[in-house]
Amino acid sequence: MGTLKLPAGKKIAVNLGVDFDAQSLWLGGFNRPSPSYMSRGEFGAAVGMPRILDLFKAHGITSTFFTPAHTVDTFPEICRRFMEEGHELGHHGYYHENPTLIGRETEKRLLDLAFKTYKDQLGARPVGYRSPYWDYSDNTLDLVEESGFLYDSSLMARDLVPYRPQRWQVRWEKGNVAGPASKVLEIPVSWYLDDFPALAYTGAQEGMSDTDAVLRRWKDIFDYGYRHVPNGIYAMALPDARGVEAMPSDYNWPGK
Ligand SMILES: [Zn+2]
Repeated sequence: MGTLKLPAGKKIAVNLGVDFDAQSLWLGGFNRPSPSYMSRGEFGAAVGMPRILDLFKAHGITSTFFTPAHTVDTFPEICRRFMEEGHELGHHGYYHENPTLIGRETEKRLLDLAFKTYKDQLGARPVGYRSPYWDYSDNTLDLVEESGFLYDSSLMARDLVPYRPQRWQVRWEKGNVAGPASKVLEIPVSWYLDDFPALAYTGAQEGMSDTDAVLRRWKDIFDYGYRHVPNGIYAMALPDARGVEAMPSDYNWPGK
């Protein structure tokens, strides 16, 4: 189990992270390359990202942008902007491919193809990985370790503390067995701290929640961690960059 060493007087580490998927979100697993869905992806690059970067700048916040390399190849300028403004680039697949739907060779090829784009376009090699769809194939953890990532942020065995992910051996009729834990540090994600299920309409997913209710959920989880989890972490994901509308600019994060 990893333990954070926070600066004196600080109780919880907060990452208002962004999964900047843009058009790749609609390619990788949704398979919706139509002009309408590409326009939704264009919105993220043209409108959502400038808004969220302006908000972060106004509050002096630096964050992590888990960005598929397809997004970098399609919208390099806005990616250069977040790099120049001191944010971290995280690996998030090439075209937001769903790792459970591809073989090991393809998963590895796309991982390396993305590394090439990050280097060629942004001169960066990410040290953090977040899997598209927050899903893992049986090969993903091995590939994350082999690729030299220092941390992963895709899994959910804890909520408010970092940990080392287990390799579970799944046995349908005998009970599962925990295998050796990874050396990779896991910064856990949570669908409750993601704006996509709550806000995005996809046809199959209703989204469109009341933003007051979304903000209350985010505050409730933060408040619990702040009060009850020593040296905790609170990692959000704003894949559609629409959560910015639920985040009032005057909210006074405790302990900031
Ligand atoms: Zn994503």
